[in-house]
Amino acid sequence: MKEGVARFWREIPQRYNFMGNKCEVCSRMFFPPRESCPICRRKSIGKMKDLKFSGKGEVITYSIIHVGPSGFEEQTPYPIAIIRLEEGPQITAQIVDCPLDEIKIGMKVESTFRKIQQDGRTGAIYYGYKFKKQR
Ligand SMILES: [Zn+2]
Repeated sequence: MKEGVARFWREIPQRYNFMGNKCEVCSRMFFPPRESCPICRRKSIGKMKDLKFSGKGEVITYSIIHVGPSGFEEQTPYPIAIIRLEEGPQITAQIVDCPLDEIKIGMKVESTFRKIQQDGRTGAIYYGYKFKKQR
């Protein structure tokens, strides 16, 4: 248990700073970071460089989730979007702090660090990134 808590805190800077990485062979960027580049494969080993992403991007498409998976029931309905980050990679994330009818394809968003889920059995709270409309 103690180990689990320590690991959680070690992982925070990576999550909070929105760290991805970049293949120095072909310049592709990845989020979350990858061990090696899927294009360059062996050539990229040892050439993956950590890179702080801006945390900003644009909504490519989205859907409203009305029936959430276990642990997310209390949050429904909520929007899940595919977001293209400024650096290129696309990720799937929840949109927060935005009325459902204001979400649009092409909307500029930025990452925010939020509670993702609370484990009803242990009370543990998990954090991660979500996205909100850029001001
Ligand atoms: Zn590469």
